[in-house]
Amino acid sequence: MRRRGNAQDKAATSGGRTLVGVEIRSEARPASVRPKSVATHCPYCALQCGMDLARSADDKLSVTGRADFPVNEGALCGKGAAAADLLDPAARLTAPLLRPAKGEPLREATWDEVLTRVAREFADRGPAQVGIFGGGGLTNEKAYQLGKFARAVLRTPNIDYNGRFCMSSAAFAQNRAFGIDRGLPFPVRDLRATGAILLVGANVADTMPPILQHFTAQRESGGWLAVVDPRRTRTAEQADLHLQPLPGTDLALANGLLHVVLAEGHADKAYIEARTTGFEDVRRAVAGYWPERVERLTGVPAGQLRAVAQRLSESARSGRGAMILTARGSEQHSDGAATVSAWINLALALGLPGRPHSGYAPLTGQGNGQGGREHGQKADQLPGYRKIDDPAARRHVAAVWGVDPDSLPGPGPSAVELLDKCGTDITALLVMGSNPLISTPDASRVEARLRSLEFLVVADVVLSETALIADVVLPAAQWAEESGTMTSLEGRVLLRERALKPPREVRTDLEILAGVASRLGSELGTDPEAVFEELGRASAGGTADYSAISHQRLRAGEELFWPCGEGRRAGTPRLFGERFHTADGRARFVAVDYQGAAEEPDADYPYRLTTGRVLAQYQSGAQTRRVESLRKAAPEPFVELHADLASAHGIAEGTLVTVTSRRGTATAPARVTRSIRPDTVFMPFHWPGAGRANTLTNPALDPNSKMPAFKVCAVRIEAAGPAGANA
Ligand code: SF4
Repeated sequence: MRRRGNAQDKAATSGGRTLVGVEIRSEARPASVRPKSVATHCPYCALQCGMDLARSADDKLSVTGRADFPVNEGALCGKGAAAADLLDPAARLTAPLLRPAKGEPLREATWDEVLTRVAREFADRGPAQVGIFGGGGLTNEKAYQLGKFARAVLRTPNIDYNGRFCMSSAAFAQNRAFGIDRGLPFPVRDLRATGAILLVGANVADTMPPILQHFTAQRESGGWLAVVDPRRTRTAEQADLHLQPLPGTDLALANGLLHVVLAEGHADKAYIEARTTGFEDVRRAVAGYWPERVERLTGVPAGQLRAVAQRLSESARSGRGAMILTARGSEQHSDGAATVSAWINLALALGLPGRPHSGYAPLTGQGNGQGGREHGQKADQLPGYRKIDDPAARRHVAAVWGVDPDSLPGPGPSAVELLDKCGTDITALLVMGSNPLISTPDASRVEARLRSLEFLVVADVVLSETALIADVVLPAAQWAEESGTMTSLEGRVLLRERALKPPREVRTDLEILAGVASRLGSELGTDPEAVFEELGRASAGGTADYSAISHQRLRAGEELFWPCGEGRRAGTPRLFGERFHTADGRARFVAVDYQGAAEEPDADYPYRLTTGRVLAQYQSGAQTRRVESLRKAAPEPFVELHADLASAHGIAEGTLVTVTSRRGTATAPARVTRSIRPDTVFMPFHWPGAGRANTLTNPALDPNSKMPAFKVCAVRIEAAGPAGANA
């Protein structure tokens, strides 16, 4: 193990826990948090901020930001700063739980009891009746092993994960245009140098605040920032220009911007000629998106379209470069992949991808949203971003796994489709590191599906809402209690070393999978370093080639971005400089047309609901709702709506509001503001119960990526009573 600083320590206790392999750092820190600390990374979002986990003099675990990690430079958001709190046994699962029979309560059980039960339930069914639902927070090693467990042990095609809800639209569109899907194709710090940024559907001030320092540096050096969001978020407030479109109309907006770029002579003709194909089709497709028509479709003034097109092209031409960045606000739609294609078309027409400080990029959300989709837990993929229906890919991976390629199942159903099969085609389901009861669209239907399963097993850190209805609950080790790699939003592969022993009756996910596999007559490894080495071999030669990356190199402090394999051992911080990853090396324009949202408002449901996150909570809230400081900062859901809309419905600040869609009803206190469009209401999606936002959302799927339409559905609203009435 690499050690930095001036001392070494093998073990230090913390409240009965043991810090193992402790790395002692030399930089000055308050005496109260010295001398024992371990360099690690945040367990939450894809920024993967560097942090030190330390034990204070009064034996408390805490984290501080690492100033030497270039992505966050010491900054942490409140979630990251409180990451150690969840390690407290009081906040988490500490023993396996078993429900002896349906309708009976969960009781504590031994590991042998629960693993034997899981294995028996899986063995009693054919592979077609068993499903796996993974998570975008799992390490690369776990995502890889989960895919292997499904395909080589259970032999089932039924595996997908919650990353389908996060990145699938951008992934599909990037693969289609560039032949590769890697979040940012450049390091985060490149943001600082670019001249102009168009940030679409991202509220980074709330979701990943430390990244703001790069936006700030960009603007302090004369850069320009425009934000596209139906709400005037804290991010939008910092922009030079805020475009506030109707939710679900981003495709029309992007086509409109491209129309202006072409009409006003801003296109980079030499780049289009030399580096792309398909431009003529796109030129014809956007001819009908003149600014005044786009203003009618989106609500964005034509003048703003012209201003954005001009600033982006001026910056691109000046050599400072320009960037178009998208996130879930633009991607989580039933036309999400087409919408991302429209943004990529705009970037290509301006000649941005592959140029210095320039390009298109989606901002990955979940901690390992990037690596999680590269190594086999996605329904249609094998490790290395290989396609499961590609015979050569099947042969390669089967050889690494020591199985017959013909024994590997084919593509399975996507996340929403898989959950919808529960209780019918699929009768037993393993959920690992995910909480679909809260995070899935049309959540009441999903809950009914999961409750109708004959057998549900959940492996998680906490007793999530999904775990509460399971037949078996497996307590899993956390980020600081096991080694593993994560791939951040910039394609950087990071090693999180094991720093603590987990509580006695807690096991790592690798140990859990191995325990079930052994009872089914198969062998899976439990050592993360060995699993990563195998992952490297399985990915070798694939699009996401990790074969030259090792725990050892990462431990030695090397900065490695994938692809990193034969001929690219130094890794690839920046993509597309010479060529794209397509067969002919050119990027593809793809003509796309705006068709409207899957569900447009009507007389019964006259408003648009959009959903998102708040600063102090993360995803389904299963972890962050258990952290006291975060719970206090964001204790409950709310319905954000414009003062004019509120007034029209007799709603005041704090009034309980009932929001109804075609799927169901949610109730939460009103937050009245003038920062959101008057035709749109917003709800955060972190909470269960009456305020569960995903009770309302539309499971309509993007035909290409199978992304659900999280970000817009039609609703009506009513005042339900004063605050506290539904408590
Ligand atoms: Fe953790 Fe993301 Fe916050 Fe950084 S921004 S501290 S990675 S949650």
